[in-house]
Amino acid sequence: MTKDNIGGEVLAFLAGNLLDPTPTNYRFGYLYLTRSSKVICEETDTYIDNGMRMKQETIVEIMGKHASASDDPEERIAARDEAVEMFLNAAGDLARETKRQADGVGRDIAEESQAIREGAQGEDLKGAIRRIIDRAATAERELSTASSRIDRLQRDLEEARNKALVDELTGIPNRRATRAMIQDLEIRKVRYCTAIIDIDHFKVINDTYGHAVGDRALKLVANALTEALAPWPVSRWGGEEFLVIAETPDAALLAEKVTIAKDALADRNLKLRETDEPMGAITFSAGVAVNVETSDETLCRADNALYEAKKSGRNKVLIAPESGRVADAA
Ligand code: GH3
Ligand code: MG
Ligand code: MG
Repeated sequence: MTKDNIGGEVLAFLAGNLLDPTPTNYRFGYLYLTRSSKVICEETDTYIDNGMRMKQETIVEIMGKHASASDDPEERIAARDEAVEMFLNAAGDLARETKRQADGVGRDIAEESQAIREGAQGEDLKGAIRRIIDRAATAERELSTASSRIDRLQRDLEEARNKALVDELTGIPNRRATRAMIQDLEIRKVRYCTAIIDIDHFKVINDTYGHAVGDRALKLVANALTEALAPWPVSRWGGEEFLVIAETPDAALLAEKVTIAKDALADRNLKLRETDEPMGAITFSAGVAVNVETSDETLCRADNALYEAKKSGRNKVLIAPESGRVADAA
């Protein structure tokens, strides 16, 4: 397949599977046809080998798996947005269908009642009453089915909503949840501090022991930070970056707690699960900033302090200055 006709190939593939050419579907088709995603290829091949048509729900599910296997947080968010949108559409369809059914019952019963009101007698009267009773019984069954479908949909939606805010690997809040928390603080005009934490030389862990050990290290750091900094929430800000939000204007206090968490982590004797071989200390660097005019600016200041911490030797926590130089937390 040449680069020139890939767009056409993707559209033909989508059309062949009766899929709308939405951005997600297009991306799915592109990744599949160019064999660029292992997850997508394996899952889709199974469907196609079994002669099954790709349904929209299947695409969403496969793209979700692809996103989970990806390092790119934006990709994960996009996949979940799609899932939430699908649930909302399904809920809307169900609500419309239920309303249509209810309107139908109302109309049918009104017609029969009209016949009774107009003086139906004998068999006609009995027939009208029987039809009203039957219609009411059918309506009750339909309503009960709709109600359990709504319950299931609500559970699915709840699950999707949770997934949209939780980082899949570590189980702590993700970047989107963090943005929402910060926005909430700004709306309530609460003064807060934030720390951005970035593991030192994390790439070396991946390169030396493999991605799976890297993933386990991320979970371990997420748990250690969450425990050490409670009740302040710790979230996964990106790959090997974490963020703490502390409802206090005291940057020195947050820096102190983060330093304690850092030293405790560095003191742990970590071993490889498979071989019991020691794997060396995990350290991190962090930048702390107190909130300023906008959250973007606050985050930028924390990020600058983190950059300074990295530049000046790592394994340290620095506070962004009110103005001028970054201050050492120690
Ligand atoms: P520095 O001290 O300057 O921060 O060095 P570093 O190696 O930590 O930084 P760099 O940004 O070069 O590398 C970060 C690495 O984190 C690269 C990326 O592959 C890895 N990473 C990001 N997300 C994940 C993940 O979910 N799992 C694993 N195992 N690795 C990840
Ligand atoms: Mg980093
Ligand atoms: Mg790093």
